[in-house]
Amino acid sequence: MASFIPRVFSGIQPSGDLHLGNYLGALVKFVELQDTTDCIYCVVDMHAITVWQDPKELPRTIREVTACYIACGIDPKKSIVFNQSQVAEHAELAWIFNCVARLGWLNRMTQFKEKAGKDRENASVGLYAYPSLMAADILVYRATRVPVGDDQKQHLELSRDIAQKFNNDFAESIAAHGFGDAFFPQPEPLIQGPATRVMSFRDGTKKMSKSDPSDQSRINLNDDADTIALKVRRAKTDPEPLPSELKGLEGRPEADNLVGIYAALAGKTKADVVTEFGGAQFSTFKGALTDLLVAKLTPITAEIRRLTADPAHIDAILADGSDRAQAIAAETMKAVKDIVGFIRR
Ligand code: ATP
Ligand code: MG
Repeated sequence: MASFIPRVFSGIQPSGDLHLGNYLGALVKFVELQDTTDCIYCVVDMHAITVWQDPKELPRTIREVTACYIACGIDPKKSIVFNQSQVAEHAELAWIFNCVARLGWLNRMTQFKEKAGKDRENASVGLYAYPSLMAADILVYRATRVPVGDDQKQHLELSRDIAQKFNNDFAESIAAHGFGDAFFPQPEPLIQGPATRVMSFRDGTKKMSKSDPSDQSRINLNDDADTIALKVRRAKTDPEPLPSELKGLEGRPEADNLVGIYAALAGKTKADVVTEFGGAQFSTFKGALTDLLVAKLTPITAEIRRLTADPAHIDAILADGSDRAQAIAAETMKAVKDIVGFIRR
């Protein structure tokens, strides 16, 4: 098999304010990986417009997500930080992948089914084709590792299928152009830890999401301490005290969620947390959870506020990141065009 340079790619949509799920499922991992691997972190604005975004709001949200990246500890000098629409190669490769991916594959995607809801005929074509753009985001950098939350697992598998089919369909041409037996790697999902799927505070069976109309369903990274305390206090729970063994969390999605969040923030396992709080009432546990959330998030919130006060500085970071990203993406696209058989300048 061909070998590939280890490279991390991931992204977050500027479709609203970032929340605790984005933080624990994605951002914490983004920051850790910077120490060991070359990382590319994208604000995926072209994904965001697969559902309606107000053009008066979108620039602010793009800058806000960028500020969150940096406030959480991503170093834009070390890692590449940029917004997707500034690197046209994402869209270019996505088109080629639209011609590689099969309708049957996309028809199985649960995110489309959930987001399109009952009125599927009225969903955008972009929402349907979202996974091929996601495959292009990753593979235009020939990235090998992708830190994401559990909800993106299925899309990652599709990215792997697209890479595989491209490698198979064009095998002869790939070899003829000197790329050996595979042009694209099989990107590996990194989904680890006790909070890979943070659930809504109002419904323990639904994931926490930016696009949930209820602000009470999530902790936003720009919430102040009082708002965090109120949201935790109001978070849905059941009347039983906390169990002292993991098995006792089965069938109790809200309890399981809060224990998972506490564990992830404290750098512990869920088993440690139930050992510590077993038998406690939720009021006690929620107090401890609030203290932990406020301690972890308050410095990040302050840094987000500081950074968003200077939009020109954020735009400069995005411009620099876009240049560096494009240098890699342009090389991939030249090779892809040769492999596919296009004539290019
Ligand atoms: P939207 O509702 O607009 O889809 P979102 O909250 O799902 O927004 P995305 O931008 O789609 O956020 O996802 C960004 C990253 O955050 C992805 O890696 C995704 O898996 C992760 N993520 C999103 N929600 C959660 C969650 N509730 N728990 C853990 N990780 C999550
Ligand atoms: Mg999402």
